[in-house]
Amino acid sequence: MRIVFHLEYQTTFGEELTLNILEENGKDLALVEEAEPEPSLGNGGLGRLAACFLDSIATLNLPGDGIGLNYHFGLFKQVFRRRMQTAQKNDWIRERSWLTRTGTTFTVAFGKKKVKSRLYDIDVAGYEGGTNRLHLFDLESVDESLVEKGIDFDKTAIDKNLTLFLYPDDSDEAGNLLRIYQEYFMVSNGAQLILKEMKAKGYDLHELHKHAVIQINDTHPSMVIPELIRLLTEKEGFTMDEAIKVVSKTCAYTNHTILAEALETWPKSYLEEVVPQLVPIIEELNARVVKKFKNEKVAIIDGNDRVHMAFMDMHYGFSVNGVAALHTEILKNTELNDFYRIYPKKFNNKTNGITFRRWLLECNKELTEFLTEQIGDGFKKDASELEKLLAFEKDTKVLDRLEEIKQIKKKQLCEYIRKNEKVKLDPDSIFDIQIKRMHEYKRQQMNALYIIHKYLEIKAGKIPARPITFIFGAKAAPAYVIAQDVIHLLLCLQEIINKDPDVNPYMRLVFVENYNVSYAERLIPACDISEQISLASKEASGTGNMKFMLNGAVTLGTDDGANVEIHELVGDENIFIFGKDSDTVIAHYANADYVSRKFYEKDPMIREAVDFIVGEQCLKAGNKKSLERLYNELLNKDWFMTLLDLKDYIKTKDKAFKAYENRRKWKRMMLVNIARAGYFSSDRTIEEYNRDIWKLK
Ligand SMILES: *Cc1c(COP(=O)(O)O)cnc(C)c1O
Repeated sequence: MRIVFHLEYQTTFGEELTLNILEENGKDLALVEEAEPEPSLGNGGLGRLAACFLDSIATLNLPGDGIGLNYHFGLFKQVFRRRMQTAQKNDWIRERSWLTRTGTTFTVAFGKKKVKSRLYDIDVAGYEGGTNRLHLFDLESVDESLVEKGIDFDKTAIDKNLTLFLYPDDSDEAGNLLRIYQEYFMVSNGAQLILKEMKAKGYDLHELHKHAVIQINDTHPSMVIPELIRLLTEKEGFTMDEAIKVVSKTCAYTNHTILAEALETWPKSYLEEVVPQLVPIIEELNARVVKKFKNEKVAIIDGNDRVHMAFMDMHYGFSVNGVAALHTEILKNTELNDFYRIYPKKFNNKTNGITFRRWLLECNKELTEFLTEQIGDGFKKDASELEKLLAFEKDTKVLDRLEEIKQIKKKQLCEYIRKNEKVKLDPDSIFDIQIKRMHEYKRQQMNALYIIHKYLEIKAGKIPARPITFIFGAKAAPAYVIAQDVIHLLLCLQEIINKDPDVNPYMRLVFVENYNVSYAERLIPACDISEQISLASKEASGTGNMKFMLNGAVTLGTDDGANVEIHELVGDENIFIFGKDSDTVIAHYANADYVSRKFYEKDPMIREAVDFIVGEQCLKAGNKKSLERLYNELLNKDWFMTLLDLKDYIKTKDKAFKAYENRRKWKRMMLVNIARAGYFSSDRTIEEYNRDIWKLK
């Protein structure tokens, strides 16, 4: 019973066990971790979520494996050159690694072209729990020498390139043929593995749904539905009706985003080229839908011959879930409303979570130890026990120790950043951190405009009560031009601010290179203010927000994604919320009535900040074309409405900095955030998936 499908993944290991073995041999885990590159199998939040889920599935002793691809060079490694992002291959696989080569191989056909696959496994050891596996399929004929400069390679040599790179576009650009090849390679291997295992156990495949469940994690694995139907009809003697029936009871779909450009739709002609054997099946699935519903808005193949993968999942899966309360409501009421009206009972919410083993026990040993002293170690397996901490809300000693631990983590981070980025930071300053993929909807550009505003204030003599350190980390998809421009702007600001003796005693900025999970583990425990400033309605859930809260940072954010639930849990007085709400934003899109230029013209503070992007100082530090392009984008398009919320953002952020000065009150805010974070344990999320969808055991 099992299977979580995923095209991207970052693993997490059984730390406790490893620790004991290392200790016995006189080795320090920190040094080993430093030497060992992290698996480069994810883009960002989506892959990291899958890793947290596998950790929780194993910890809860549930039988559930992951399926993905064994990307040799993973997601690219980010290197800054002349204040621009460049991409290099990330060769994370070492001769001796956690990957186990298995004897399992399959044949995967792309029309007449056939390739051979091989399965590699990574053990996923739960915390005092069971051990499951992450199944990573590789191409037997993969050829690493295909990679030329950076991350360029021959995109057409499918039999050599298929598992070289994780497609680096993080849900923002149209897909291409290689992506479809990769997706089919993953699901065909996965489907063959499941059927092989079922048969080996002697199960009747007509009862597949009683022995297996497939969680389709975003639309990337959607082709598993027609592929299973194909295998059952072509190889197992099923009729079409029988195959559709059993597959529909086996597959469940999770929606992870409402960004239209990320809901995959493939031209039918692409599928005809890559997987011609699936096209008649998809056409049959569509014909049944069209006949039944006579509503072209729910057809799998639209009038332009594009195949809507999520629509196939919703018609032919038994469950559809969103990943935070607000997100699921938006799916039901707006984005997927036509489907909700047909299948109200299929829809359900599963608010995301994070594994506390990695995001507290492992990354913040000082805090973990202190919490254990205060409330015992029950929270390690039952995260709701963190609420016991609330009893110490007025305990000066406890509050002071929380502050001390934060200070320790800030000093450790300063040391690390000094070594790795060659930037000197002040551990006594406020640490304001925004780390996540670079995307317009996440609005790093809004934070940049605040920083410009603050810089100009300091230049004009308005000195902040305490120095502030702004920290960024983010990779941008190589084809996402505006995202690259925002990185460039921030790197220019870093140069301008840190070199300006009038300003650098009061504020500093660092954009860390190659942000990844290992870096996140150092940054998050050191954070005072957690930047979660997406445009309301656009961030499905977020999980970074949960990691920060758990480590005693206070959220500065919009009422979006899981921030809404964080807000409810900690109350108005322990969070800083600003900006227009999701209903207002959705209405702006519906009416097409947002004009960024109006905000620019109306407000001198906004105008001054935006103009700075193409002012003398920035142009001297940076690239004219890039900066002008970003400036024009903000003025003439601003699709994610930065200027709509900028004024409120500046006001609220200043309020947060002021609140920091009331040290006693701030420490209480830290405590409440930690105490209320238990809800966001991925153990809770997985228990809900199992209770409502998988029903394992
Ligand atoms: C948690 C995590 C993310 C997701 O962050 P969001 O703020 O939820 O987008 C992305 N990248 C890494 C490395 C992470 O650890």
